[in-house]
Amino acid sequence: MKIAVLPGDGIGPEIVSQAVRVLESLTSDGMKFEMETALLGGCAVDATGNPFPEATRKLVAEADAILLGAVGGSQYDKLPRDQRPEQGLLSIRKDLNLFANLRPVVLYSELVNASTLKPEVISGLDILIIRELTGDIYFGEPRGIKLHDGQRLGFNTMIYREAEIYRIAHVAFQIARKRDRKLCSVDKMNVLECSQLWRDVVIEVAKEYPDVELSHMLVDNAAMQLVLNPKQFDVIVTGNMFGDILSDEASMLTGSIGMLPSASLDDKSKGLYEPIHGSAPDIAGKNIANPLATILSTAMMLRYTFNQEEAAVRIENSVKKVLAQNYRTSDICQPGMKEIGTTEMGDAILKNL
Ligand code: NAD
Repeated sequence: MKIAVLPGDGIGPEIVSQAVRVLESLTSDGMKFEMETALLGGCAVDATGNPFPEATRKLVAEADAILLGAVGGSQYDKLPRDQRPEQGLLSIRKDLNLFANLRPVVLYSELVNASTLKPEVISGLDILIIRELTGDIYFGEPRGIKLHDGQRLGFNTMIYREAEIYRIAHVAFQIARKRDRKLCSVDKMNVLECSQLWRDVVIEVAKEYPDVELSHMLVDNAAMQLVLNPKQFDVIVTGNMFGDILSDEASMLTGSIGMLPSASLDDKSKGLYEPIHGSAPDIAGKNIANPLATILSTAMMLRYTFNQEEAAVRIENSVKKVLAQNYRTSDICQPGMKEIGTTEMGDAILKNL
């Protein structure tokens, strides 16, 4: 099992090293991981001038899976757009055709009070958001800022080809089949032609999955329903921009951005696995970042790329046990809990594993 390890910037190296320890500990069960580290993002800009250097490009192309920390930092915000850290990440997604972004939003019962929402609204929450990741307004052309009639005009293009919608819809229906067989497709078909096509194609694909209950929701309503009654959802599928916004909103239902993993898959289950949070420069280098989202990302890697369901569940159970033992990093710590650092959280996970 070949894994490219890309720690990235900010807290990236601290949290990724804990996730690597978890993977290494599984080798005693007979699993063999070949892990190689490379530069991506701001650290790559500093070292080579390129956020996605050739050596990294080669490594990720050859790997079965990629483990990523996070990229970015305010010191890079003034660079030309194509040299910014985020460009490295967008290029990997595009290069490897990682079109299906899976974001589970699971509330651990021990963290029910960490959320700003009432316990009765969120307890038992278990949603999967599937976001299309390689199309939509983030990649559409033409785009730019130009002078028009004496003033600056900014423009982007929201665009979906039907093949892109078919492919993400199939992924969503297949995953919904393995869960509660309820899929909600989110769009903005009342005002956007692009969304009209999205809805038409999802309805066509649904004919192949009569056992899955399909519903549709406009994105503004979905944003509202996610905080009003999030447990009505099981699997949500949506486009790149709507998914970007809704999945961050949903992450807050669980109380901490430091708990949520993600997977981005191609059509052969090669995947990029990363926490949903960013590089958190405000807490970098202090050994206080929560490594659990990254550790849970390795569980997703074992499940979706390597088909090692048992090992994935072991990691997830280890996280549950550590929370039940009241160990917390500062982002999820509450009175009466035992506050520990990033490395100590890694130790606790290994002990329970
Ligand atoms: P962020 O997710 O890095 O941080 C938001 C807040 O959450 C901060 O207060 C931070 O301290 C906290 N936080 C995040 N992860 C945490 C963890 N594991 N443990 C404890 N607390 C955690 O978002 P931001 O501050 O908007 O962005 C910082 C940088 O990260 C920017 O340069 C941004 O572009 C980049 N970014 C990268 C990715 C990525 O690599 N996928 C995603 C989002 C943002």
